[in-house]
Amino acid sequence: MWEALKESDIALKEWNRPFAAVLVRNDEIIWREHNKVLTSNDPTAHAELDLIKKVCKKYQTDDLSDCILYATCEPCPMCAAAIVWANIWTIVYGCDNYEWPSNYKRQNDLTCVEVVKKSGQDIKIIKHILREECKNTFK
Ligand SMILES: [Zn+2]
Repeated sequence: MWEALKESDIALKEWNRPFAAVLVRNDEIIWREHNKVLTSNDPTAHAELDLIKKVCKKYQTDDLSDCILYATCEPCPMCAAAIVWANIWTIVYGCDNYEWPSNYKRQNDLTCVEVVKKSGQDIKIIKHILREECKNTFK
C-alpha cells in the first residue's frame, strides 16, 4: 500500500486526483497506475481500470486470477466490475468511498463489496490497510 501511496503522490503532482493502484503477482509489483481523469479528460481513466487494461494487454491475457490489487481507495462500481471480469484474486484497499472530500463527484452508493457479492465470484476483499494515510491524500 505504501507503493500505491507513492503513486497517488504522482497523481497529485500531475494535477489528477490521488487515486492509485498497484498490481502484485508472486509478491512482486507488476504494475503501478494512478487516476488520470482530469489530465486526460476521460471520466473512465481510473487507476484500477487503466491498470487492468494495460496489464492484460502487456501479458496478452484477460485472466489476472493470480494477482492482488492494492488500491488507495475502495474501487468504484466500474472498477469493481472490471476487477471481477479480470478474475483478480484479492482486492486490498485503504479508505472507503464515503471518505472522499465532498467536492469530489460521487456517482452512487454501490460499494465494492456489493458489486463483488453480486458477481458470485469468490474475490477476497481486505479493507482499511493504511486507511488514515490513504484518506490523508485527499487533504
Ligand atoms: Zn473506478
